[in-house]
Amino acid sequence: MPRKRIAFARIAQESNALSPVTSVLEDFERTHLLYGEELIEVCGPNKREVKGFLKNAELSGFVKAARSFGDTFELRPIFSAWAVPGGPLAREVFEGFRDRLIEELRSMGGVDGVFLSMHGALCVRDLEDAEGRLIQSVREVVGESVPITVTLDLHANLTRRKVDGNTLLCAYRTNPHRDHFKVGQRAGRLLCQTVLGQVRPVTAWRTLPLILGGGTTMDFLSPMRAIYGWMKRQERDPRVLYVSLFNCHLWLDHEEMGWAVHVITDGEPSLAEEIAEELAEKAWAVRHQQPPTFPDASEAIQQARRARLARKLGTVCMSDASDMVGAGGTGENTALLRAFLEEGTDLRTLLPLRDPWAIDALWPRKPGERVQLTVGGRLDPARNAPIPIDGTLRCNVDVEGFGRISVVDTGRLSLTLTEGAAMVMQPSFYRNLGLSPWRADVVVVKSLFPFRLYFALHNRKTIYARTFGVTDFDAGLREDHFSSPVWPKDPVDDWRPTDRRRRGIVP
Ligand SMILES: [Zn+2]
Repeated sequence: MPRKRIAFARIAQESNALSPVTSVLEDFERTHLLYGEELIEVCGPNKREVKGFLKNAELSGFVKAARSFGDTFELRPIFSAWAVPGGPLAREVFEGFRDRLIEELRSMGGVDGVFLSMHGALCVRDLEDAEGRLIQSVREVVGESVPITVTLDLHANLTRRKVDGNTLLCAYRTNPHRDHFKVGQRAGRLLCQTVLGQVRPVTAWRTLPLILGGGTTMDFLSPMRAIYGWMKRQERDPRVLYVSLFNCHLWLDHEEMGWAVHVITDGEPSLAEEIAEELAEKAWAVRHQQPPTFPDASEAIQQARRARLARKLGTVCMSDASDMVGAGGTGENTALLRAFLEEGTDLRTLLPLRDPWAIDALWPRKPGERVQLTVGGRLDPARNAPIPIDGTLRCNVDVEGFGRISVVDTGRLSLTLTEGAAMVMQPSFYRNLGLSPWRADVVVVKSLFPFRLYFALHNRKTIYARTFGVTDFDAGLREDHFSSPVWPKDPVDDWRPTDRRRRGIVP
């Protein structure tokens, strides 16, 4: 019997539509960009799929699943592109990826299946719903009958373009995300079984006029824990192939964004509809769990000062909640820096800031030299005011995954300047620069939740500071943005009319 051919690729980045900083090809080159054979190479056992970030992710999971069928499948790697979250992607970069994907699929002269690893919350400048369009383009090339499996971050926004009966959408189940491999493996097995005719998937979905996030959607905490438990129980029924819940990234440019659910069953359309309906109801029921409000920079510093015992036994982790790089923040927000320089000089503080121009100026200088410069306010000048710094250069270091970093000490504050938007959420970020989190009173991070796991040993108190930036919860609920009422910006009693319109059931 001839081997079945499955092509696979990844294009993934989470966007923050409010960021003025356009993502470019270098953002992928810096993080992860592999083509053809070098891609399948890193998906093997004991390899590192995404260097510096993840050992095994979705594509390794898919490859493992396909190989568990022996020699049945011929796997055709196309490319894998993944960047740290950022502003919307430049349109020509996205179209370059799309054209390459379509061209290669076409040149294969027919495949039996396609596996795509995507994010689902990617924005492209001047191109609405780019990912939905990409899935449609792939569908046009491979034909109606060929199954396409797409793994998605649970922060994806489902749109009508992304959903069709023969496209199998499979979402992460964990937040913070740590099940990339497992999702890839499950989705991969599902695709292989579909190609072989062992299962006959049918899908159902619902979309909710609901925007909610920011700490209320952790999978292991209430209220999501009970919902994920319920989803798992549905999947014990062998007729239920995959159940997904999407919490939707808050800062997109789509006017019909919101939470969504998606269900795949084995040839049971009414069962899929039933589960989708019930899950949508469960998701809608948590809408009253609004995220807490955070203190401003000044109040956050006072809270840190009052936390004497916490500082003595370890450190205080302060999350710059308005500039979370993990959600596409620029990493350039200077509000905390200003506040520490003006009101927090008694606190030993480690604080990151993105400023490649400052690094250019500091790179030729020697450690120990006195340096005077202005930092910040160049990437997003409308939001971030520049700050003058007078201090001592501690070091210039090149760190894998982060690029060049310069550290300037000013008073008791160590300012770590990074070239790109740096996901500062692990103690190793500071340790690699010779800075001890143990000795700091305050360690500033650019992460909403993952840092709590990484810093568990050091962190004696967590403070979230609101510094007014592109990752503020209410910044996602722009007044003029939505095509129809959305909770909690507007009072919405019933999600069904919006759902029916968004799905195209009623005009
Ligand atoms: Zn996510």
